[in-house]
Amino acid sequence: MHFVSHLECALCGQHYNASTVQNLCGACQRPLWVRYDIEGLKKKFSKRALFGRPPTIWRYLELLPVQDTSNIVSLTETITPILEVGRIAAAFGLDHLYVKDESRLPTGSFKARGMALAISKAKELGITKVAVPTAGNAGGAMAAYAARAGMEAFVFMPEDTPAINQKECHLAGAKTFLVNGLITDCGRIVGEGKKTKGWFDVSTLKEPYRIEGKKTMGLELAEQFEWKLPDVILYPTGGGTGLIGMWKAFGELEAMGWLKSSKKPKMISCQSDGCAPIATAFAKGERFAKPFENAATIASGLRVPAAVGDFMILDAVRASGGVALATPESEIPGWMRRVCAAEGIAICPETAVCFSALQRLIDDGVIRRSDRILIFNTGAAQKYPEAIAADLPRIDLSKPIDWGAIC
Ligand SMILES: *Cc1c(COP(=O)(O)O)cnc(C)c1O
Repeated sequence: MHFVSHLECALCGQHYNASTVQNLCGACQRPLWVRYDIEGLKKKFSKRALFGRPPTIWRYLELLPVQDTSNIVSLTETITPILEVGRIAAAFGLDHLYVKDESRLPTGSFKARGMALAISKAKELGITKVAVPTAGNAGGAMAAYAARAGMEAFVFMPEDTPAINQKECHLAGAKTFLVNGLITDCGRIVGEGKKTKGWFDVSTLKEPYRIEGKKTMGLELAEQFEWKLPDVILYPTGGGTGLIGMWKAFGELEAMGWLKSSKKPKMISCQSDGCAPIATAFAKGERFAKPFENAATIASGLRVPAAVGDFMILDAVRASGGVALATPESEIPGWMRRVCAAEGIAICPETAVCFSALQRLIDDGVIRRSDRILIFNTGAAQKYPEAIAADLPRIDLSKPIDWGAIC
C-alpha cells in the first residue's frame, strides 16, 4: 500500500530515489516534489475507502509518503472545521465566505501538518537529529513532533520571534537558540550544522515531505466541499508550502478523477507590505522573487524575505488565475479584533492579512459576490500576545464600584 514512485526537482525535473535521505536538488538547489504512481493509486484507492476512517490527516494515507504505518509520529492531526462567517460576508456583500480553522491542530497552527509528515518520514529514514530555522510556529511544531518521536531537536529563531514560540520549543525539549538576524540567517546556521553536526535539515521546502503534510489541507477541504472545490482560496504566504501543497493536492485529486469539476480555485497569496517578496515579484510579472529588504511584520509566519520555493508559489498562483498581493501592516490588529469580535474565531495576524485583502480583491474583480471563498486561519491568535493590544479598564476594590462606567 505504498505509491510513491520517485522525487522530482521542481525546477529542472531531475529524478531522485525516494527511499534515501534527500534535501534539495543536487543540480539546481531547488525543492523536490514527491511523485506518486497515480495509475496504481486509481486501482487501489477510491473515495469509498475513506468511509469509516478516523477524521485525521492519515485518512489519506495512500496519497502520503509514509511506507510503514509503524513510523507514523502523530499527536492526532484532526480534520479542521470550515466555519461560515456570515457577518463578515454581509459587510462585504459576499454570499459565501468561510474560514478553515487550522488553529485546532496540535501546537496551534497548520505547521503541525507538515511536521507530522516530515518527522514521520525522518523516522522512517532512520534520522535521529533534526534542525530547523523558524519564524515561529514551525519551530514549535518540530519541537513537539521530535519530542514525540524521541529525536534530538535544534531550533534557530530570530531573537524577536514571538515569546510563545520561544517558550514552546524550550518546553518541548528542543535546543533552542535566538539569533540576532532574520530567518535566512538562521537557515544558514542550520545549513552549516548539517555538515558539521550531522543534523537533518527540516527547513521549509528543503526536505520533500513537509509539503506532503500541507497537501492534506487541499485533500481535506476537497472532501469537506464534497469534491467541488471553492472558487477562491486566500492564503497568507511566507515560505509558501501551504499554497504549493494545496495546489499539488488539487492536481493529484484531478488526476485520480476524484473532483466533480475541473474548475480549480483562484489561489490568492496574501502578504503584509512589511514583507512582500512574492507580491512584488507577481506585480512585476517575474517567476523568481528578489529578497525583500528590511522585512518586518507582526505576522511572524510571513516574515520570510527569500523563499526557495518562490517560483512554485508564483507558478501555482498564475496557473490558478489568482493573484499575489500585499496589504498594509497597520491593518493587522484591527482585523484580528474585528473577525474575533464578529464571529468568535481568534484569527492569527497572518490571517488578518487575508481579510484585509478582501475589499481590494472585490474592487479588482478577482472575487465575485456569488463566489465560494475560503480563507485559511493558519494559527491561533492566542500564540501572539504581542500582536494584541488590550488596554482594559480596571476595577479598584478599595472604592465603590462605578456602575455607570460598566457599559
Ligand atoms: C508559517 C505560517 C504561515 C506561512 O505559511 P507558508 O506555508 O510557509 O507560506 C502563515 N501563517 C502561520 C500562522 C504560520 O505559522
